[in-house]
Amino acid sequence: MPWKGIRDPYRIWLSEIILQQTRVDQGEKYYLNILKHYPNIQALAKADEAAVFRLWQGLGYYSRCRNLLATAKMIVEEFEGRFPENYQDILKLKGIGPYTAAAISSFAFNLPYAVVDGNVIRVLSRYFGHFQEADTTTGKRFFAELAQECLDPKHAGLYNQAIMDLGATVCKPALPNCPECPFKKTCFAYQQQKIKELPVPKKRAAVIERDLHFVVLENKSHLLIKRRSGRDIWQNLYAFPQRDDDVLMANKLNPSKKQAPDLILEQTLTHRKIKGHFYRIPVTRKPQALIDSDHLWVPISELSHFAFPRLIISFFQKLNYL
Ligand code: SF4
Repeated sequence: MPWKGIRDPYRIWLSEIILQQTRVDQGEKYYLNILKHYPNIQALAKADEAAVFRLWQGLGYYSRCRNLLATAKMIVEEFEGRFPENYQDILKLKGIGPYTAAAISSFAFNLPYAVVDGNVIRVLSRYFGHFQEADTTTGKRFFAELAQECLDPKHAGLYNQAIMDLGATVCKPALPNCPECPFKKTCFAYQQQKIKELPVPKKRAAVIERDLHFVVLENKSHLLIKRRSGRDIWQNLYAFPQRDDDVLMANKLNPSKKQAPDLILEQTLTHRKIKGHFYRIPVTRKPQALIDSDHLWVPISELSHFAFPRLIISFFQKLNYL
């Protein structure tokens, strides 16, 4: 992992934000690519937002990218371009919760804050034999306090890295390598044969399904795309106008007669399943009334210049547009 052992808070922050909802093997190339374009916080604060979104494309959970940009600007404007060096100030930054604040504080500044993630909870619950559910308010507080008690305050960064590594490489979820574990003699779960029961599994949240109906206006080799604004998913990314958009109604371009979509694609997120219905409509001219700051006619050959959510990229790939 290219961020392992580094002390630069900018790099640690970037890696932690990427890893919030992305696996290490997938996130690594994004981390390196963003660093190549924006090697420090000043460069990121000055970045063209659309360009950063394009680099982020494919990672999903785009609010992380928006927060990254907002935080870079805030650090430059309010902290003279230097990453804050105390836990409370770090915790105030956008997109940074207690886990990320503890990781940055301990790895970059060796401050005594224990990280608590899934790996840490697994090690602690097995080693001490605690059967609390970790995703309740009480459970979270319990494991946060226990982790803090166990922390070696003089070597906070090293300790945090060690317990996370133990969880990731030895005390693994399904098949922990207990015979090789340095704690096997005093580990409750190993000694009492309770490994399968610990940690207590999370209750699964229900998956919410959502249907989005996209109208794909096609004029020869151009498509009408729309930047998503408002508070809905995929904010600031491009997609297509949706079937009930006012602008389509006003231009009589709503495919109300076209009942069946040409293509249906699905994307599953952690707690949501998005079903995209795509209605392709060829038009002989490009109605200029459709052009405003959010709507654009773009040549198919230039689609790669814009950032799209994964579902829309899949649509382009099905049509061999990307
Ligand atoms: S002995 Fe096994 S269960 Fe206990 S901490 Fe080590 S790897 Fe985890």
